[in-house]
Amino acid sequence: MKTIIEPFRIKSVEPIRMTTFAEREQCIRDAYYNLFTLQSNDVLIDLLTDSGTSSMSARQWGALMEGDESYAGSPSFYRFKEAVDNLMPFKYLIPTHQGRAAESILFTVVAGATHSIPNNTHFDTTRANVEAQGADAVDLVIEEGKHPELEHPFKGNMDVAALERFIEERGVENIPLCMLTITNNSGGGQPVSMQNIRQTKEVCDRHGIPLFIDACRFAENAWFIKLREPGFQDTPVIDIVHEMFSYADGCTMSAKKDGLANIGGWLAMNNEDWAVECRNRLILTEGFSTYGGLSGRDLAAIAVGLEEVVEEDYLRYRIASTEYVARHISAAGVPIMKPAGGHAVYIDARQMLPHIPPLQYPGQSLAVELYKQGGIRGCEIGTAMFGLQPDEKEEPAHMDLVRLAIPRRMYTQAHMDYVIEVATEVYENRENLRGMRFIRQPPALRHFTGRFDYVEN
Ligand SMILES: *Cc1c(COP(=O)(O)O)cnc(C)c1O
Repeated sequence: MKTIIEPFRIKSVEPIRMTTFAEREQCIRDAYYNLFTLQSNDVLIDLLTDSGTSSMSARQWGALMEGDESYAGSPSFYRFKEAVDNLMPFKYLIPTHQGRAAESILFTVVAGATHSIPNNTHFDTTRANVEAQGADAVDLVIEEGKHPELEHPFKGNMDVAALERFIEERGVENIPLCMLTITNNSGGGQPVSMQNIRQTKEVCDRHGIPLFIDACRFAENAWFIKLREPGFQDTPVIDIVHEMFSYADGCTMSAKKDGLANIGGWLAMNNEDWAVECRNRLILTEGFSTYGGLSGRDLAAIAVGLEEVVEEDYLRYRIASTEYVARHISAAGVPIMKPAGGHAVYIDARQMLPHIPPLQYPGQSLAVELYKQGGIRGCEIGTAMFGLQPDEKEEPAHMDLVRLAIPRRMYTQAHMDYVIEVATEVYENRENLRGMRFIRQPPALRHFTGRFDYVEN
């Protein structure tokens, strides 16, 4: 059969409030053209993020009921620990309420003002947490990863030669660790090959630098390795996951992604000295070391989610549904990042809207239009998000993308067909879109709370 069906049926539904074009125009104006400021009730198809938006399974809801809320040593923690160890066994496991809490704790402990952290591409919260310590967040993704139109099976790969050069120039003493983000979210949800993980580890080992994996979409990355990397076609996903993490000395994780949960995260590592300091920091900021800012029921839901996320029927459907949207909007002419990422389709707004210069945020303009036309909420990943430099100057980001992130197990194919239709319509009307400007912006992570308006013609 060619049709890949959702490998689940629906037991519980949530209504979507239907809105008109005029209502949406008003809503987005009231939100200062910032999609993060919209009320989600005013959104028809919410593709802002795949983070924390997964539909949980009946088994996860069952596990929630069994969650144990003991302050210390809860069985839910041990259930969680077993599920994590099954996939990525590190010596020390530190639960946190989100991925960024894991990042904050890690970089507070290991990074300082003289340091640099290399990564394929830092996700925005990772970059912000590195920079909050005064350290430098350095992106070293391969050249292909910077060109949306180029096809490459593993566009998230680290440029290993550039990493080697960077380490030699910067000096080992200034690089407390190296990171690898799988899949590479800010670089388009593109996977990293097993060979590249191995080579990155070799470079790190040669210089005695620990390698940490930003593991948020580890299962999707493993599926891409199975699909695309020679030699892995017949390898079970779970074995691919094991091998991926065998090259790492630690990881940060958001359970809101491939944990199939609505909240949660963790930090894991093998270095005991760091782990002790991180735990102290955890107790100060998150909670005791067996719950880390989560309730026992959250830990239980994550444990089940981690079992379900590596099921191959789930991953086959997951990656196929993202690819389905990408293929159809691309066929309609919409320029997208190729090949399709795991959790999202990225529209290349810079290419689609050549009449809007990068410093007028073509991605923001496109995201606003998708909302106005069809009530679809996507997210700008471009100059509005990354253009503001630490020295307060403004530069175009590598790319101006609009990310349509697909929540896990939430929308049906009919919803996706609607998304394709709206994106096509906006594309056909692209010449009428206008540039935007900030009318108010905070100094960090400005895309979350900044206010926009259209530029004057
Ligand atoms: C979401 C994400 C994070 C941060 O996780 P939160 O749970 O949102 O704090 C870090 N890195 C990557 C690659 C992510 O996608």
